[in-house]
Amino acid sequence: MTQQFSFKLKATDGKARTGVISTPRGEVRTPAFMPVGTAATVKAMMPESVRATGADILLGNTYHLMLRPTAERIDRLGGLHKFMNWDRPILTDSGGFQVMSLAGLRKLTEKGVTFKSHIDGSKHELTPERSMEIQRLLGSDIVMCFDECPALPANRDRIAESMRLSMRWAERSRDAFGDRPGHALFGIMQGGLERDLREESAEALKKIGFEGYAVGGLAVGEGQEAMFDCLDYAPDFLPMDKPRYLMGVGKPDDIVGAVARGIDMMDCVLPSRSGRTGQVFTRYGVVNIKNARHADDPRPLDENCSCPACSNYSRAYLHHVFRANEMISGMLLTWHNLHYFQEIMQGMRDAIAEGSFEAWQAAFNAQRAQGDIEPL
Ligand SMILES: [Zn+2]
Repeated sequence: MTQQFSFKLKATDGKARTGVISTPRGEVRTPAFMPVGTAATVKAMMPESVRATGADILLGNTYHLMLRPTAERIDRLGGLHKFMNWDRPILTDSGGFQVMSLAGLRKLTEKGVTFKSHIDGSKHELTPERSMEIQRLLGSDIVMCFDECPALPANRDRIAESMRLSMRWAERSRDAFGDRPGHALFGIMQGGLERDLREESAEALKKIGFEGYAVGGLAVGEGQEAMFDCLDYAPDFLPMDKPRYLMGVGKPDDIVGAVARGIDMMDCVLPSRSGRTGQVFTRYGVVNIKNARHADDPRPLDENCSCPACSNYSRAYLHHVFRANEMISGMLLTWHNLHYFQEIMQGMRDAIAEGSFEAWQAAFNAQRAQGDIEPL
């Protein structure tokens, strides 16, 4: 098994790419979707079940883990992989984004951010150096630079100032990360929806040099059209031979549109979170299992899906256990959603390798336009 981190591009079709990231903990086939394991678990799923859906890599959240159970405790217990029983690659975010969205009483300076925990109000500090230390203690395979991400819409001055701060932090992150063979550090491009700021950010990151590059600061309220407009040019500023990661995306059509624009990796809580609220993604669009129309329906969610929820249970059963607040509801619907997202990724990988991505995309869109099967 390889002891180094590497990325090999195997085929391109238009701007879409397929390849393999190799790490000492295994390979990640790209385009890759990373389920989110916020608190050292993908909610409602056993790790072996997550693997069975086809996931090669998980995402862990630095902000959550540093507060509870703490990175130091996870390190003492053998690292995050052992702690949560997932021996394949893990990517951790830097904590920056979640400090901005979850924590209280934040104070931002050149040095970093101080904030109060949303759990118990205790005071903490995150800096590029501390974020690198936490991600090292967790044992993360792919470490993200500590950055600042303003919510959109924001004015150009604010976005430029924030992006330049993030670039200074990227340099400090690189220095603090040090020399760790087999582990990767990804830089994060910022610049909002401003083309020249995106380019300036990409140039600054390339000068520092990273094993991969993320497009940050999207999926923060700008809407799909604006996001795609930005993705029409932003990935082109990044090196061809390094993985490109779009953070926090998204719905199935966001994912497909991002891959069409040259993105290799994505993560989102959507399939797991929706699974717990009764929202199901299928090839025919979104199904709300709580609707009364499913109460007597003996058919599966999707007769062509091979996940346990579709293979062994009716819509009527899934409706019943959701209404009755039974735990198996979140378990089955999360499994189905993650399975469906991974099926999309596999479909895109195969289509890009065969040079038929455009036809695959047309079929994907046509099925979605068809809508869910008619009620009985
Ligand atoms: Zn299914």
